[in-house]
Amino acid sequence: MKYLRFLAGEETLQGITDGIGYVKEISGDISGDYGITGRQFPLEEISRYLPPSRPTKIIAVGRNYRAHAEEMGEEVPTEPFLFLKAPSALIGHGEKIIYPDESSRVDYEAELGLVISRRGKHIHPAEVADYILGYCCFNDVTARDFQKTEHQWIRAKSFDTFAPCGPWVDISADPHDLEIQMYRNGKLVQNSRTSDFIFSIPELVSYISRYMTLYPGDLIATGTPSGIGPVEVGDLLTVRIEGVGELQNRVVAEERVK
Ligand code: MG
Repeated sequence: MKYLRFLAGEETLQGITDGIGYVKEISGDISGDYGITGRQFPLEEISRYLPPSRPTKIIAVGRNYRAHAEEMGEEVPTEPFLFLKAPSALIGHGEKIIYPDESSRVDYEAELGLVISRRGKHIHPAEVADYILGYCCFNDVTARDFQKTEHQWIRAKSFDTFAPCGPWVDISADPHDLEIQMYRNGKLVQNSRTSDFIFSIPELVSYISRYMTLYPGDLIATGTPSGIGPVEVGDLLTVRIEGVGELQNRVVAEERVK
């Protein structure tokens, strides 16, 4: 089952779907008590998908696939490497990625996203599953030129629109061996499996919760496989994760609002 947030006219709605046919609107809290309202909407008529979670923070993991660490010229890490992305960078399925004038090298990064369901600190690896709502497609869009020249990746990772997420959260996926792919204009450019993680999901969530309280909706981007590369204005980027879904976003030029 998949959970999504979307706009119908001026209304912000939430619903559940099996990914084909209809969305059933729900009310309440998908991580707690919720009910089906009785209204339903054909999926193909949804004109605007919203990011499926509203996190207090986006925690991202660097170098969690061996082959990506190697292509970046980095050693395979012995403990998770973390950084943050600003929640203000989130966009939903179908929204535009803005290529900022400031950067001359923007890259795609296909990632499995994970959404937290309830508050937790010092979570034991064996109990991590109780804290996960589900999984989504995530694109860790990166200004690679900024990343290469700065120790803190705040600017590189947090330009507006640099966190496409969606189209929904799959709340019944088994994440441990899923095919994960990035297509650039229909051409396959990243192709791996989540079974190639260096650090497993229980290890990652437990590790992060040693330092930060995790809250419902918090988003963890679990790292990208090898095959990263640059985008150009006009590109259509598709993150596809087996059974979870497809997240598509087009890259557009920046238009400054005065
Ligand atoms: Mg990344």
